[in-house]
Amino acid sequence: MQSMAAKHSIWPREKDIIFDLSGRAQRAEKNIGRENVINATIGALMDDYGRLITLDTVYSEYKNLENAEISAYAALEGQPDYLEAVKKVVFKGYMPNSYIRAVASPGGSGAIKLATWNYTNPGDEVLTSDWFWSPYVSITEEIGRTVGTYELFDENNNFNFKSFKKEFLRIADKQERIFTILNTPAHNPTGYSISDNEWDKIIGLSKEVSVNKEKKIILFVDIAYIDFASDDNASRMFFEKFSNLPENVLVIVGFSMSKGFTAYGMRMGAAICITSSENVAEEFYYACVHSCRANWSNCNRGAMAILSNIVNNSEKFKKYNEEKNTYKEMLKRRANAFVEEAEKVGLDILPYRDGFFVSIPCENSREVCEELTKDNVYMVPLKAGLRFAVCAVNENKCKIAPSIIKNALEYVKSQKLVENR
Ligand code: PLP
Repeated sequence: MQSMAAKHSIWPREKDIIFDLSGRAQRAEKNIGRENVINATIGALMDDYGRLITLDTVYSEYKNLENAEISAYAALEGQPDYLEAVKKVVFKGYMPNSYIRAVASPGGSGAIKLATWNYTNPGDEVLTSDWFWSPYVSITEEIGRTVGTYELFDENNNFNFKSFKKEFLRIADKQERIFTILNTPAHNPTGYSISDNEWDKIIGLSKEVSVNKEKKIILFVDIAYIDFASDDNASRMFFEKFSNLPENVLVIVGFSMSKGFTAYGMRMGAAICITSSENVAEEFYYACVHSCRANWSNCNRGAMAILSNIVNNSEKFKKYNEEKNTYKEMLKRRANAFVEEAEKVGLDILPYRDGFFVSIPCENSREVCEELTKDNVYMVPLKAGLRFAVCAVNENKCKIAPSIIKNALEYVKSQKLVENR
């Protein structure tokens, strides 16, 4: 069989399971009516009737832009007013006392690429939790790095610092660079947020390891869902903890406009470095700008203008926040409905704090998802469980789903017992 792709570009030809289930859910909606299907596969905010939510304050701003403001090339590093607006919207009142530089990227994904490429060596192992957003693997694998994991939760469903420490030290032992991805607040897929107390432990450990000046510690904080964390202030306080870190501890924050500005397809984000060394900040800037030029050149100028215009105008920013907050409330109601009902029916879920998803630990997740489709419930199977997108399902359906899921879990479990007899 003829093959032309370079060896490093040949990957398994697997169907994307999320797109597959999502396609089946959409066909079911067409055949039997939307009201009879629970499509919890989608990673975007949908209204109660299953339509994509798009913020009016964002899209009216876009439609008022001059054509040239959308059409022209942008600066490689991002427009200056955009980069300032990003810092404002990310840190709010919690800017760490450090050198901070931002570089524009195509979405949060682009920021992850900038950081992993420029701050790890070929063959390095990157650390993240065992429940994680799967593109972390694609992005790192593509450039010859691997992903190692720690257990996110202990047996009491608390943040498993013991496991984090063990894996962090294991990597520190074998590598110069310890690059850790922490997706918080409102983690995908569990909805967990690292508490301030847990942050203290993570930073404490980083400082301990940093005593060896040959080690380079990079904490990549993926804040893709920060705008849907319930408390804007409480969810940002941890940023101040990044003040005055040792020079060999670098924090890179991955910002995305996808969720907070409902701008998924616009592909706009930024990588922001936080460091106590002026040189490390400058180096970050030039390393990332070089990567921008080499990969995608410049980013979406119109999307940058939306953010700058909204954030730099207090009236517009207020209106944007008011509009977004109505959806944040909607999301909270849905998640509460799911969590409360799960507790009522005895469905075991992972600790949810905020965000788009709730996760249910289980074995044989693919079979359970398949079983659920018989009840017209569509969810995403993960390695260690199921992901339910409260962002995409109305409150009523969020309330019905837990008992259906519990039944499917019990059914698959009983089938497995019979098979293994
Ligand atoms: N990080 C996580 C955990 C995500 O779930 C996503 C999007 O789904 C992203 C980052 C990046 O999204 P984007 O590249 O659209 O900004």
